Amino acid sequence: MEDQQATLRNAMTRLDLTRDSFADRLGVSRRALDSWLLPATSGEHRRMPGVVAKLLAGLPEAPPVAAGAPGELRARFTKRGKPHLLSVAQFDRETVEALLRVAEAMEPIARRRKVTRVLEGAVLGNLFFEPSTRTRVSFGAAFCRLGGSVCDTTGFTFSSMVKGESIADTSRVMSGYVDAIVVRHPEQGSVAEFARHTHLPVINGGDGTGEHPTQALLDLYTIRREFERLGKSVDGARVAMVGDLRHGRTVHSLIRLLSLYRGLTFRLVAPPSLEMPPALVEAAAAAGHKVEQVATLADGLRNADVLYATRIQKERMSGEALEAYPADFRIDRRALATLCSPDTVVMHPLPRDGSAGANDLSTDLDDDPRLAIFRQTDNGIPVRMAVFAVLLGVEHLVGRDLRDAPWISPARLGPGDAPFHRLA
Ligand code: ASP
Repeated sequence: MEDQQATLRNAMTRLDLTRDSFADRLGVSRRALDSWLLPATSGEHRRMPGVVAKLLAGLPEAPPVAAGAPGELRARFTKRGKPHLLSVAQFDRETVEALLRVAEAMEPIARRRKVTRVLEGAVLGNLFFEPSTRTRVSFGAAFCRLGGSVCDTTGFTFSSMVKGESIADTSRVMSGYVDAIVVRHPEQGSVAEFARHTHLPVINGGDGTGEHPTQALLDLYTIRREFERLGKSVDGARVAMVGDLRHGRTVHSLIRLLSLYRGLTFRLVAPPSLEMPPALVEAAAAAGHKVEQVATLADGLRNADVLYATRIQKERMSGEALEAYPADFRIDRRALATLCSPDTVVMHPLPRDGSAGANDLSTDLDDDPRLAIFRQTDNGIPVRMAVFAVLLGVEHLVGRDLRDAPWISPARLGPGDAPFHRLA
């Protein structure tokens, strides 16, 4: 079954078609195509007819994962020869799409079907000076799934920075121990400073209110995959970003990355004093997108293709600013039923505040198939694997080094996973 799904998905990617246009091209109904793409465990799943399989087999070979010479993709998005990923500003559309194709190729490994050892012997330094669950663990897991191993340090308390050690010294010291470094730090610009003092790959895992580039990459990857299922395209999409847009680094990176596409409408829904920084609004508008700044959910969510909710970044605010936050920013079942359409993709970088009545994405939506938050977190693995593989120059080796994973893993990871979760 994996083969049928993979064959169809590869063909769609290779031909750069949405589901609707792919179904058209094959001369079948969208419904039939959907049923072939479902996991075998679904009651709705159907085998595609032999004649379609033959047709697909006759398509020209897919380009190798790393189109171009080894190292070419890395050279395309890294600056001054240094293999860092500090900001989404390093990408153009073609480069980001090439990177996401590498992520697609990592899916069999991320889904625990295959195993690779291309980074065997390599060590990742995972330096987190701010709290993190997802980012730290998924960077570590991504490196391990490529065959490498990970050394972690968390918080200032357990690092020599508490003794006054500079970023420059820490960076140079770490360079003697590991082969790639992920840094999260509370000050904007600090990861770039870290990168200045090493020739090793440095990845920004979040620098204060600055950027979170790999989150934006996995968000874009998620939007593309959700849209592919829904027959939509990123060009022309209506994206509502909700919450603390002033301090949220994920939305800062995401609006810039999505601006590489054409003709989007961004609806920025933030309470007074927590609006998106003007420079980012102006940049999106200058790139030809429509940017509407609104203060209520009712104005923001209408006809949205993507609803991207964010947490209030309490740790970056004083008491008064927190009190100014109005109580009606809760996104729950009722808000979705009255304001969103049946195919709105609901995303959140997480963590969400799950306490009763919290002004965040509510847990009463957990059974709603539009809620893409766990597909989004799962997507962090193939995307971060792709980033490591490209920065360390092994993306072309992955396809040659695959073995079957010998252990048993469940077809669905969580009880709420929708049938189209694609982990089966
Ligand atoms: N985990 C994301 C970040 O580190 C979002 C958040 O914390 O609200 O920026």
